Amino acid sequence: MLLTMEAKDEATRNAKEYVNEIYETVVKRNPHESEFHQAVLEILHSLVPILAKNPIYQKHSILERIVEPERIISFRVPWVDDQGKVQVNRGFRVQFNSAIGPYKGGLRFHPSVNASIIKFLGFEQIYKNALTGQPIGGGKGGSDFDPKGKSDMEIMRFTQSFMTELYRHIGPDIDVPAGDIGVGGREIGYLFGQYKRIRGGNEAGVLTGKGIGYGGSLARTEATGYGTVYFVQEMLQDKGIELEGSTVVVSGSGNVSIYAIEKVQQLGAQVVACSDSNGYIYDKNGINLDTVKRLKEVEGKRIKEYVEAHPHAEYVEGCTGIWSIPCDIALPCATQNEIDEEAAKQLVANGVKAVAEGANMPSTLEAVDVFLSNDVLFGPAKAANAGGVAVSALEMAQNSSRIAWSFEEVDAKLHDIMKNIYQQSVQAAEEYGYAGNLVIGANIAGFKKVADAMIVQGVI
Ligand code: NDP
Repeated sequence: MLLTMEAKDEATRNAKEYVNEIYETVVKRNPHESEFHQAVLEILHSLVPILAKNPIYQKHSILERIVEPERIISFRVPWVDDQGKVQVNRGFRVQFNSAIGPYKGGLRFHPSVNASIIKFLGFEQIYKNALTGQPIGGGKGGSDFDPKGKSDMEIMRFTQSFMTELYRHIGPDIDVPAGDIGVGGREIGYLFGQYKRIRGGNEAGVLTGKGIGYGGSLARTEATGYGTVYFVQEMLQDKGIELEGSTVVVSGSGNVSIYAIEKVQQLGAQVVACSDSNGYIYDKNGINLDTVKRLKEVEGKRIKEYVEAHPHAEYVEGCTGIWSIPCDIALPCATQNEIDEEAAKQLVANGVKAVAEGANMPSTLEAVDVFLSNDVLFGPAKAANAGGVAVSALEMAQNSSRIAWSFEEVDAKLHDIMKNIYQQSVQAAEEYGYAGNLVIGANIAGFKKVADAMIVQGVI
């Protein structure tokens, strides 16, 4: 039924009140968890239009339930360092929502990890996973372990200890972790080996991001970065803007950044800067990706060493300055809250046309407002970086059917999934009266799938 204008206004007022009430409860129940509050605030506010139009979600207390993780596991991770000293870290797994499939989401090893960070990531993951169209629920995990400067044996002992507790909570049909910051192919290998050893069987689908030789999927390593750029292509095409020939800035130099840079370069655009947590490099001739891959993927060095191989390039200490470099397209691919209001204003002043989030929540709420109010094309994380988890789901499908697809097959499926996510987000934004706002569109499209599944499954 179409709502009359007046009824719509009242419905909107009710929906806003409902959202505010839920948000206040979240803040009260989860004190000191600022990242989690930020993620909840961003999503809940964007749901007002769908809540106003469909009172059934409030009737079934969907928001009350969806903001509360189904389960939070927190555990001790003791391990022995190379000096023979016992170290203790904290491990987490948040199993947030299983309405549409087994919990799915990465593991992050970084000293900043705490319950708030894991909950914000897990909460976002619910909607991102729904947007992929694959049957996967939302989860996330990790540890405050710092892999920097650790020997290979220390990494192995730590990951084995981590899995010795985590194994009892996961499984191919229960919860399927993958990598994230600080967890790449090496860590997934050690985690998988320990799981297999404890379980006494080869359950390939328990983890994704595995090596190709033991159940991994081709194109998983590239998926998040490539997917982000496929998403950018869709945004630009819709406005008749060419990617080819444009100037791009990509933050970070990890998994997402490297493959975003690779795809941008393949499509004929130029990446002039990238960074790590110490500083950024600016190369007006275009970043030499082979050097970045050697430094970061092979030698584990700092990005500042790039200038040794390319003396014409500049290295600048500190991360946020990267956003002062003029560019047509900005791809934040490093970490949360790396673009604040000031950095966003600087990008706009320099004429940025599109921003797509390869990282999770890299733009503050204020920065997102700056982009949207200045008509910058903005691809929010849960849509723009969903390619990684989408190919993880394809890895699960290959493991279940015991077949392996070619790189081209997986890449083509990834490309289709990214186009589809873009279309769903555009359509939802239009349907609910916010044409062009992909933040609202992506949140509503993801939410609707999960909320509808929750309703038909009863009060659980
Ligand atoms: P990696 O650990 O491979 O790389 C992270 C990169 O970001 C490193 O280069 C790191 O530098 C850099 N970095 C960290 N903090 C900062 C900072 N404050 N400023 C600038 N650079 C910084 O992680 P991923 O590439 O896997 O993940 C990056 C982001 O993408 C995260 O937000 C993650 O949640 C998200 N993501 C990842 C997916 C995946 O498939 N990997 C899927 C979807 C989202 P340093 O080397 O100094 O630590």
